[in-house]
Amino acid sequence: MDLGTANTLIYLKGEGMVFNEPTVVAYDTKTMEVMAVGSEAKSYLGRTPLNIKVVRPLATGAIEDFEITQAMIREFLSRVQKMGRLLKPKAVVCVPAGITQVEEQAVVKAASEAGIGKLYIIEEPIAAAIGVGLDIDKNRGQMVVNIGGGITDIAVLTLSSVAYSKTIRVGGDSMTKALMDYLLQTYAMQVGENSAEQCKIASGSLVNGALVSQTLSGKDAASSIPRKLVMEPEEIMGAINEPVQTIIEAICEALEQIPPDLVTDIAEDGIHLTGGGALLRGLDSVIEKRTRIHCNLPTDPLTTVIQGTGKALDNIKFYKKVFV
Ligand code: ADP
Ligand code: MG
Repeated sequence: MDLGTANTLIYLKGEGMVFNEPTVVAYDTKTMEVMAVGSEAKSYLGRTPLNIKVVRPLATGAIEDFEITQAMIREFLSRVQKMGRLLKPKAVVCVPAGITQVEEQAVVKAASEAGIGKLYIIEEPIAAAIGVGLDIDKNRGQMVVNIGGGITDIAVLTLSSVAYSKTIRVGGDSMTKALMDYLLQTYAMQVGENSAEQCKIASGSLVNGALVSQTLSGKDAASSIPRKLVMEPEEIMGAINEPVQTIIEAICEALEQIPPDLVTDIAEDGIHLTGGGALLRGLDSVIEKRTRIHCNLPTDPLTTVIQGTGKALDNIKFYKKVFV
C-alpha cells in the first residue's frame, strides 16, 4: 500500500495494482461516520453541507486525525477485499524516508488497527528506485526525487540503502496553494482547491502542440460575486514558482551534503524524478538548468512507488533486505 498524502494505491502480490484513489475521506461530524472515501470524497471538497467534513488526513505527510485515518484505511481495504480476498492480510506500507519514528509508528498503528495483519515497511525512495527500474544493489550513487502532494522526498541511494535523505513538507499541493494565494493577492479572486489543482495540471497540457490559456471560475473576494479569469500558462508557472524553487534548493542541498563520488555518479546517470509533482510541465528543465544534471522521468510517475513496492513483493526473496 502506497499511502500517499494525495493518493493511495494498492498492489496485490501476483495481481498488480488494484486500487488508486485520492487519500481523502468525508465524514459526518455528528456521528463520526465515514460518508465517502477516495474520488467521491475528493469531489465533495468545497461543496459540503454543514454536517459533513472532508479531510485529507495525511496531507502534511503525518497523520493528523488518527481515528479518521484508520477508518479511511479500513474502507480502502474493504474495497479491495470485496473482490473476495483475505481477512487480516499481510501488507507492505511505504513511508517517506524522512518521517520521524513517531510518525512511522502512527502509520503502522493506523494500518494495523484498520485490519492489516503482519505489516512491513518499505522506504519510499527505495520503492521508487525499484519502480523506476534501477539496480539498487549497485555500489553507485543514485538520486531519487519523489514529489508527492504534501511532501517531497529527496534521497541518494547506494548499495540498497539510503545514503542521504531529506523530506520537505513542500510538494504538488504547495503549488496548488501558491496559485490560490496568487489569485487572491493579484486579482482578489477566490477559487476552490479542486479548480486550482485542475488549472495547474491543465496549464501544462498541449492542445495541437501548443500550451493554451486556462479559464478559472471562482468568486470575487470583496463582493463575493461569481467571477471568471483567463490565465496564460506562463503566468501560472510564475505563480507557482516559489514551491518549485524550494524543491530545487533542497536538491542542491543534497548535492552539497553528499561526497563528490556520489555526485559524479548522479551526474552520469541523471536525477530520477517520481511522484505526481514531477508531471509539472517544465519542472525537469528548471532542475536541469540549476543543477546541470539531467532529469529522468518515468512513464507514469504517479504509480512508480506502488509499482516498485509490487515488484519487491513479487520478488520477495531478492528484495528481502529492503523490507523492515
Ligand atoms: P502522494 O504520493 O503524496 O500521494 P502523488 O505522487 O500522488 O502524491 O502526487 C500528487 C500531486 O501531484 C498533487 O499535488 C497533484 O496536483 C500533482 N499532479 C498530478 N498530476 C499532475 C500534473 N500533470 N502536473 C502537475 N502536477 C500534477
Ligand atoms: Mg507518493
